[in-house]
Amino acid sequence: MTRIFSGVKPTGHLTLGNYLGALRRWAEEDQYRAESLFCVVDLHALTVEHDPARVRRLSRQAASLMLAAGLDPQVCTVFVQSHVDEHARLSYLLECVASDGEMRRMIQYKEKSARAQASGQGVRLSLLTYPVLMAADILAYGADEVPVGEDQTQHVELTRDLAERFNQRYGGAFVIPRATQPAVAARVMDLQDPASKMGKSHEATAGIVYLLDEPDVVAKKVMRAVTDSEPGVTYDREARPGLANLLEILASCTGKEPAALAAAYDAGGLGFGALKRETADAVVELLRPLRARHAELSADPGYMDGVLREGAARARAIARPTVDAAYRAMGL
Ligand code: ADP
Repeated sequence: MTRIFSGVKPTGHLTLGNYLGALRRWAEEDQYRAESLFCVVDLHALTVEHDPARVRRLSRQAASLMLAAGLDPQVCTVFVQSHVDEHARLSYLLECVASDGEMRRMIQYKEKSARAQASGQGVRLSLLTYPVLMAADILAYGADEVPVGEDQTQHVELTRDLAERFNQRYGGAFVIPRATQPAVAARVMDLQDPASKMGKSHEATAGIVYLLDEPDVVAKKVMRAVTDSEPGVTYDREARPGLANLLEILASCTGKEPAALAAAYDAGGLGFGALKRETADAVVELLRPLRARHAELSADPGYMDGVLREGAARARAIARPTVDAAYRAMGL
């Protein structure tokens, strides 16, 4: 049976981008068609300046939002990365397979290290080796598929390279994984700055919709989205990124095609105001049940503890033999 692994970093409050690009598909499709593991990757949250209490709180919140989004712990495995030692164990072995040069070529490293430097915080070594840990996350479970947003495909490519290299050099048996992406909304952009992705680790702006924002806040953020001054409604990601982003968000919420939505708006002579109103309503309705389930789960911390304990036990049972075999293959 196909095995799926994916994760979310507790570096900030989860955004609409995380939901449309990842969580929704995990919940609606992935968990039912494959043996799936979904992880709060808290070790990754330590690669940038962090507050320990905040990371712990956000980890719980992320796990709760994953269940609120529809992940069913009876169907898939939901756990926290640091509860399973195998991630760190395997990461070290893979550091001995990866090269310094290929790490420095990672786009996310370039972006994040520049940001850390600009804010005077210094660049942690773990930021450079982050993709190796991510490779360990995936390879420890023998995952065939990694459903991620567009921003993570380069890291999955690297994971494939490392697995192939390890298998060739040490006679290992890592499964070679592949990234899969949602048809629409693989890259939800910041509503105020459509050139940059809506990222939870970024500084909070009016362009980022958080899953736990109050409905009126969500609506306000969408209504204030940046568009352009061209006449008419057309779908063009390059030339009209703000408008394209709104169309993709609405398409993703309603199951329609962004180009078809643009054509309908254009033919009806409807402007940006109407598009924003419909998008705002669609997002608010999409998030309503999620917020309600999250509130229920937050009221029962004992239940969440049990889910995460059980999830870690299941994950460990899968990862340990694979990682033990890799240790032996490397001469340890
Ligand atoms: P972030 O970049 O917000 O910190 P993570 O690295 O924790 O998010 O990613 C969790 C999942 O959400 C990944 O599959 C990632 O590709 C996806 N994702 C993150 N931001 C977006 C976005 N703006 N659009 C689409 N998918 C996204």
